[in-house]
This record gives sequence, structure tokens and C-alpha cells, in this order.
Amino acid sequence: MNVFVGKTVYPGAAVGKAAIASYVKCKHDGLYDASAQKERYFKAKGLVKKDLVSLCANEFSNDVYDIIKSYILILEDEEYDSFVSTILEVERSSAECAVKKASEHFAAQLKKSGDEYIKGRVSDVYDLSDRIRTTLKEISEPESVQKEEGPVILVSEYMSVTEIIKRGKENIAGLISTKNTLHSHASIVARSLGIPAIIVNEIEDISTLEGSSILIDGYEGKVYINPDEETIKEKLSQSAEAVSYDADIKVYANVQSAEDVAEAIKNGADGIGLFRTEFIYLGKDNFPTEEDQFEIYKAAAINAAGKDIVLRTADLGDDKTPAYLETNGLRAIKLCLSMPDMFKTQLRALLRASNYGNISIMFPMISSMDEVAEVKKILDEVKAGLRDKNIAFNDSIKTGAMIETPAAVEISDTLAKEFDFFSVGSNDLTQFTLGVDRLNSEEEKFYNQKDPKVIELIKTTVNAAHRAGITVGICGELASDVSFMRELKEIGFDYISVSVPVLERIKCK
Ligand code: PEP
Ligand code: MG
Repeated sequence: MNVFVGKTVYPGAAVGKAAIASYVKCKHDGLYDASAQKERYFKAKGLVKKDLVSLCANEFSNDVYDIIKSYILILEDEEYDSFVSTILEVERSSAECAVKKASEHFAAQLKKSGDEYIKGRVSDVYDLSDRIRTTLKEISEPESVQKEEGPVILVSEYMSVTEIIKRGKENIAGLISTKNTLHSHASIVARSLGIPAIIVNEIEDISTLEGSSILIDGYEGKVYINPDEETIKEKLSQSAEAVSYDADIKVYANVQSAEDVAEAIKNGADGIGLFRTEFIYLGKDNFPTEEDQFEIYKAAAINAAGKDIVLRTADLGDDKTPAYLETNGLRAIKLCLSMPDMFKTQLRALLRASNYGNISIMFPMISSMDEVAEVKKILDEVKAGLRDKNIAFNDSIKTGAMIETPAAVEISDTLAKEFDFFSVGSNDLTQFTLGVDRLNSEEEKFYNQKDPKVIELIKTTVNAAHRAGITVGICGELASDVSFMRELKEIGFDYISVSVPVLERIKCK
């Protein structure tokens, strides 16, 4: 029996067989399994080639035949395949991203040629790359998450939000990771789902654990490899210290599904302070349609039973990047504004659902008045479109801004005139105030949501909101630190918003 000591993400004891996570983190391009992405690439390329070959059966002029044939030749180029494969293996990027990089690389080489004919092939390379990428989007992700017998202990280096969501809570007994951080979105998801989870830096090669029996003791922050029966029995019989806190402030809940909304309300939540809608995108193999989203938001609105429910527009990007989303390095509202069709689809679904409950819309990572103007313009356009089609929605729906950058705090007086409420995202506010990457385990010791500078910015935000007469809550993890609840009330928050398991430790009024 080997024992490792680590940091607890979520307490609790669990035992199961180790399964090594399929996804590997790539900071700027999501989380991808290289062999699964290669499979997608070759499949997409095969489909594009089949299309081109069948085109040759048509009657074209010789020029057109030549172009189609040159396309086929590029597709047969082994150098191109090997470049794509290397990117997939080394960078663990998505197939879409690897194809883009490959085409840029080969186009750059062609551009250097003195031969005008060869230079002219640059647009062919780009055209083909577009065709492969469009085809890739039509191909769903291969089933990279294999089904194991019973719930497993999922072991990874960087924990993937996508993998947790795709496997589902019922299939995961516990989580171990070696390079994850306490404030990553994967850790937040583990806590919100109540899955025992530990970060252990000392395990060097996680692949050696595949299939081993593993015991997680999240109360003591220990991981046992091949534990004996006695230890399993002893650790599984422990239970959490039952300290409960009296809430003398409104307590809302942070959720990620319509079912969570029902559970939170059942557990006494005064409302829903943060519905992280990006998880809907992460659980799918392609963009969720307006109808998909409408059904989820409508169910969420109904499950909130007349209480406030704040839905945050997709905070995608960084560690929340689905494979089908070709990343451009942007995150949250900046990503949505760069993809207006995706943003409008979500806004339409949200507005339509506003007819079924007390929905507000909140925008993540707002940091300038230009962004606010753009967001409002798009929201107005979407509203006008619904009005034109006589589709019912709440025209005076409340909107809010997440305050999670020092820039947003700086302009909080002006921002407060544009929104009905603020919600402080202390997770990102801490990262951007202290210059500490919340996904880098080496920097974790510098990450402190109670740092005096962070608290000062939080107070500035609360005061600005109240000066303008709008509501202000906090939905970052600082709100889930129940021992800090009194201070948050003293700072002047109108409500705190905590993860669902934390609700059980709070006696709501
Ligand atoms: C935050 O940054 O505090 C927040 C609630 O948003 P997220 O953790 O989803 O980035
Ligand atoms: Mg945030």
C-alpha cells in the first residue's frame, strides 16, 4: 500500500479502480486526446477527398479539373499529414487548430517561392484547410471517454471540466490530479458536484496507476494506492465535521444545470446567483442549438419556482473550451462578441425562457464601456427580432455585470448606471489583481482571495453598486468560505451565492 499526501479539493472518502483521463490540457486550445483528434482529422480529410473525387465525374473545363486535381494532390501530401500529426501530439490541440496551423505553415513556404504558379497555390491551401475544418465541425468527437465498470477514480495531470461533465457524476467516485489547482474550473465543478477530489503533486507517472485500486481520503488529503481492507473500512466510515452556520444574509446558489436549480431550491436557496451556462456547451459534441438551450433555460426558470435566477452567458475559453470550438484565445464576453451568431443564439434562447420565470442575464468578464455598448446593441437587436416575430419574452429583463477584473472595478461607478446588478467573481478578480494564473499549480501559493488588495477592490465595487442603487452579490468561491460569511455581510453584499453542497452547511433563514 502506497500513500501520497496532497491538497483536498473536496472532502469525502471514496474507493474505486483508477481510470486515466482521456483529455490532456493544452492551455490555449482546450483539452484534447491526440489519437482521437488524429482519427477526426483523417476522417475529415477522407470525406473532403471523396467529395473532390466525385466532383471529377462532372464535366468541367480543363482548368477546373487541374484545380481539383491539385487539391487532391495536396490532400495526399504526406508532409502535410505528418505536420498535423506532430501538432496534435506535441501541442495536444484540436484537429481544427492543427489544420489551421499546418495550412499557415505551408502557405508561408509557398509564398516564399519565386515561381508565380507556386505562389498562386497559397489560396488553394487555405481553401482546402477551410473545407477540412468545416467537415471537422460536422464530425462529432469520437467517443474518447470509455465506459468502465462502475464509478472510477479518475486520475489526470490537469483535470478536464469537459471530461467530468461528459462522464457524469454517477460514473466518478473520486478525482485525483497532479497539476490541477484549487481554483481551476475543474475543481469548482468537483466541489459543486460533491465529488471527493485531491491534488497530489508527487505522483510522477499517472499511467502506472491504470486499473489499481485507489482510496481517496479527502478529510485528511491522502491517497492510498492498493489499500488494504481495514484501511478502506476505516476511511470510508469517517464523516465530515458537522459545523453549520446561520445565514444572516440572503444565500443564492451556483449551479450548472436545470436539475441543480431544483436541488438548490429544495435545499433552501433564496435564488440562483450564478448558472454557468458554458457547461451546456461543454457537455455536447457541437454547438447547442437555440432549441436545446431554450429547453434547459425554461426548465431552470420553472425549477427556480418564482425565485431570482441569474443565468450567465457562456464564459467559454481557456480551461472551458469544447473541442468543436475553434479557439481564438479569447474568453468570456470577448469570445462571445467575436462570435456574434453564437452569442445571439444564446440570447434568443435566454430571452424566450424569461417568459417562464424570474430570469436575469449576466455577462462575464466585462471590463470596458465599449464592451457594454456592444453587448447592449446585440441584446437590443435580438429583442427586436423576437418582437418582430411576436415571440413572447420579458422585455424589461434585468441584466447584470460580473465584476472580475480590476478594470471593471475601476469603472464600477459608470458600469453601475448601465446594469441592474453586479456580481463579484472573486476567482478571476483574484487572478487578475494579483497576477496569479489560477490554473498554474506553481503559483497556487500566491493565490489568496482574502488578499487585502482584493478585498479593497471588492469593497469599492459594493460601494459603487449601492451609490447607484443597484444590487450586488458575490458568486466567486470566497462566498463559499462560510467562515467568511459575516465579513461579506459587513462589506455590504445583498446576497452571497455558494455551491450547492455548501448550502447544506448553512442554515438559511
Ligand atoms: C469568478 O471568477 O469568481 C466566477 C464566479 O466565475 P468563474 O469561476 O466561472 O470563472
Ligand atoms: Mg470568472
